[in-house]
Amino acid sequence: MTVDVTRPAVVAAVAAVPKQLFIGGAWTDATGGRTFAVGDPATGEVLCEVADAAPADGRRALDAAVAAQEEWAATAPRARSEILRRAYEIILSRTDELALLMTLEMGKPLKEARGEVAYAAEFFRWFSEEAVRVDGGYGTTPDGANRILIMRRPVGPCLLITPWNFPLAMGTRKIGPAVAAGCTMVLKPAPQTPLSTLALAGILTEAGLPPGVLNVVTTTDAAGVVEPLLRGGDVRKLSFTGSTQVGRILLAQCADTVVRTSMELGGNAPFIVFDDADLDVAVDGAMTAKMRNMGEACTAANRMFVHRSVADEFAARFAERMAALTVGPGTEPGSDVGPLIDAAGRGKVEELVEDALRRDAKVVTGGTTPDGPGYFYPPTVLTDVSRDAALMRTEIFGPVAAITTFDDEDEVVRAANDTEWGLVGYLFTRDVDRALRVGERLEVGMVGLNTGLVSNPAAPFGGVKQSGLGREGGRVGIEEFLEYKYVAIPVRNRA
Ligand code: ADP
Repeated sequence: MTVDVTRPAVVAAVAAVPKQLFIGGAWTDATGGRTFAVGDPATGEVLCEVADAAPADGRRALDAAVAAQEEWAATAPRARSEILRRAYEIILSRTDELALLMTLEMGKPLKEARGEVAYAAEFFRWFSEEAVRVDGGYGTTPDGANRILIMRRPVGPCLLITPWNFPLAMGTRKIGPAVAAGCTMVLKPAPQTPLSTLALAGILTEAGLPPGVLNVVTTTDAAGVVEPLLRGGDVRKLSFTGSTQVGRILLAQCADTVVRTSMELGGNAPFIVFDDADLDVAVDGAMTAKMRNMGEACTAANRMFVHRSVADEFAARFAERMAALTVGPGTEPGSDVGPLIDAAGRGKVEELVEDALRRDAKVVTGGTTPDGPGYFYPPTVLTDVSRDAALMRTEIFGPVAAITTFDDEDEVVRAANDTEWGLVGYLFTRDVDRALRVGERLEVGMVGLNTGLVSNPAAPFGGVKQSGLGREGGRVGIEEFLEYKYVAIPVRNRA
């Protein structure tokens, strides 16, 4: 199947998306009718304007969520489940339109955008299944005098904040469990990529989501809109995916009103290739772990540690695969690597590469910014990267692989753990003992063992250290949106 990317099809796809705020089930303008431009990173051109919410609009959205909470919490789990199931089916039936929108606003190649549509939809299917499996408990106190009845309750109105790199999946990964648990919510998408979220709000409405359960606020004033909501006392839960830097600010704001948080923050993933690894598998894994989403993923392999005895061969084979990728607008069918999100994102990648080269790294492929419109950067492989280079300590968020060598297991584990982040680590070896030993020692929330992909709606996604708090997806994903409530019941043991 091919997606129609002719000019009229692009114009129609963008025109079909609502551009207003979604509050209490109605599409409404921002205060003063203010809007902001959404651009196409492949051309630098403006795609459309969407509503630019002021703090008062954020408050209206939260008021709608608060007003809807009690009735929504009382709906039957099956009813909530079936809304998610219908939304899952609608998303899949509109794969082409949603993929095109995502490619236009974010830049990823259409084939990856289609993959994200499927991944995003899976969160709704998964949580439609979880919605009807929430259970509690019943017990007896040790002295036999009381019964303990444990119920699970929705945590209450939630604030969900999503990033631009996975515009659809980061939304469904948060909306899915919140809907399943019976929470209402305000969602604030990233200003670079609001269209996927706005389309999703339309789909959930079609699927039967009642007014006020999901409210969407697009804005260029994230700090101004979000802070008063977090400090106002009505938000019961913040679920945030974004940078560690912004995560810290939000945690501080949540402390004052004791708001529960789930934080999916940055990463600095080690990618470790041992001398006994299957190099075909390791190179495949590197392509995925580095190049998924052009490297614009918190799970991206950031530091590649390759055993000295296989480093040259690994680098040569990996660089050959990287050099063979086609760079171009995501809407072109042959494109493997789209543009980076914006000028700032590309500028950071350029600076990191220059810094590594000043510290004697060698370029095997890539490394030069192409001329022309759009924020393109070529797939790049650097070897002999100094452990002091800035890109060993910073999320690269681009298609640049930094390879360094190691000699023994202890050394590489220490180096891999020498970071404040701990989201994911990748490990390539055929030795089962080593796999488990190193897998246990890596200070991360997720390990890819002989694979470059860990994300799966059925698995608990999340990090340790400054990569975050809490988990999304898996059996625990819904827990983040539920409270425990226990009822103490004295029972006389005789009639
Ligand atoms: P990135 O650097 O990848 O854009 P950010 O952490 O800046 O990551 O952004 C992630 C999300 O957090 C976006 O939706 C953004 O608008 C939002 N955001 C940024 N700064 C703040 C803030 N001070 N308060 C609330 N949300 C914010």
